Amino acid sequence: MRPTRALSLTGLLLVPMVSWGFSYETPSITPEVGSGFEEKPGWAADTFAVAAANPLATDAGYQVLKAGGNAIDAAVAVQMVLTLVEPQSSGIGGGAFLMHFDGAKVQAYDGRETAPAAATGELFMENGEPLPFMDAVASGLSVGVPGTVRMLEQAHAEHGQLPWEALFEPAITLAEEGFAVSQRLHTSLANDEALRQNERARAFYYTADGEPLEVGSSLKNPALAAILRLIAEEGSAAFYEGAIAEDLVEQVQSHPVRPGTITLEDISGYQSLEREPLCTPWQQWEVCGFPPPSSGHLTVMQILGMMDQQPLLEAPLEDGVTSSGWLHQFLEASRLAFADRGRYIADPDFVDAPGGDWSLMLAPDYLDKRSQLIGDESMGESAEPGNPGELTVSFASQPEQPEYGTSHISIVDADGNAIAMTTTIEQAFGSRLLADGGTDLPGGYLLNNELTDFSFTPEIDGQPVANRVEPGKRPRSSMSPTLVFDQESGDLVASLGSPGGAAIIHYTARTLAAMRDWGLNAQEALNLPHAITLGGDVYLEEGRFPESTIESLRERGHTVSERELTSGLQAIQRLEDGTLYGGADPRREGVVMGE
Ligand code: GLU
Repeated sequence: MRPTRALSLTGLLLVPMVSWGFSYETPSITPEVGSGFEEKPGWAADTFAVAAANPLATDAGYQVLKAGGNAIDAAVAVQMVLTLVEPQSSGIGGGAFLMHFDGAKVQAYDGRETAPAAATGELFMENGEPLPFMDAVASGLSVGVPGTVRMLEQAHAEHGQLPWEALFEPAITLAEEGFAVSQRLHTSLANDEALRQNERARAFYYTADGEPLEVGSSLKNPALAAILRLIAEEGSAAFYEGAIAEDLVEQVQSHPVRPGTITLEDISGYQSLEREPLCTPWQQWEVCGFPPPSSGHLTVMQILGMMDQQPLLEAPLEDGVTSSGWLHQFLEASRLAFADRGRYIADPDFVDAPGGDWSLMLAPDYLDKRSQLIGDESMGESAEPGNPGELTVSFASQPEQPEYGTSHISIVDADGNAIAMTTTIEQAFGSRLLADGGTDLPGGYLLNNELTDFSFTPEIDGQPVANRVEPGKRPRSSMSPTLVFDQESGDLVASLGSPGGAAIIHYTARTLAAMRDWGLNAQEALNLPHAITLGGDVYLEEGRFPESTIESLRERGHTVSERELTSGLQAIQRLEDGTLYGGADPRREGVVMGE
């Protein structure tokens, strides 16, 4: 099949005419040089809008929407371009969660990676001890069977408007013609030692003397172009069977230090799933998010639900940042919610919800009881899980592990369909294995390290950890792609989400609070500084809170330090007059486009 554009160029009208209804124009986008926090203006549109973490990716989605494609069409195009231009965060070698609204119903598509059939609870144990985190990450052990391609194909088959093949044109064109390396890709390459250990990645992303490619230098990715062309023409089968799958197995099994066990059967047997979304009333809104294996929605809504039970504050914002009073409530609610998350949440195909129903964790009387544990003094590290319902197995709590990476896409189309999709290869550059799909061409795509989202220790004090490794299981996630609706009218209010490991939960919860409670628009909401705790120390976004706030939190018993908290929020909201208003995180390179 060829696009009509090619036909009109050659004038070969005898060739059967197949119209894709879309032809891609390579944009001239120059990456901005700069880093650090610079506020972004926000973007308004009347009919459709797309927000993604890289301007080239946003533009691909914009062109698809402009040509009459719908939200899921645009999501496919955006994801394929992200694989190329933001390879550190997401791609065809990873997994994703997609929330879809077709104007009437909300669906949740699960493209989470799975553990291979030969994986055991001991996957990340060596000599009776958990492996050091980075040793596990940069290995063949950490690679799960990727789910993004199959999930997108499933959602596109149900909802897509433009042909699947057409949606790969932007990424293939950019991979063949070359794209300009962005500041963020350059910085991520500069900071990564483990990627340099992978021969293929070193040859592709670094100069001969080991320097990362310069900002603005043009990078072609012929291996990825060839792989995407195959998936475009033959569908996901081209990825899950044949040469591309064989090469994936080879990369994982021949890791020089810690090979993994993925087989061709693991790959060909991968299934994306449709799950029942969780939709939670939250005052005038209904917030819909992803159920387990993500802990995202449950934990976000536990925090917000507990905060709704706390005394109303006179000044949740002071001098444009969240006040110490609000932060205290937020951090204490986070401690309690993370205690539940660590004990209960894992792949629902392997673990029963407390009381047999995940929504019991959000029951108002349960959250009311939990919220009463919040006092004036911080509970510090002592938060214990609650008892939302009876358990079939008594689980131990999983210790927290660090995570980074990931990308978020929000799209609303002209017909009122919307998506929120968070997509990941887990850490920046995933397992650091660059796979060329067996093409023997330079470049390729990165394999995820999603399996390090499992607990490294299968049991603690003789009790199993819910999120331990098991064959075929999906690791627990924090990803929180979210669609918000007006409870009364059912109209879409917003689509949002973020990367950031477990801190995704805080970024998403705080953005929702800012939009509902303080009347901030999407951009103002995500500009606000971040504060997080996973149950122990508190981390505040570096240099963005006044000393008095830090002092006041310390006086309440929090152990506080400052650090970079690089969220990558994207949000699109529908204002009351119908305008779409988009925001992209000032901490990363994202932009919003629309019309
Ligand atoms: N792998 C993580 C998760 O699924 C996301 C990683 C990140 O955002 O840095 O929760």
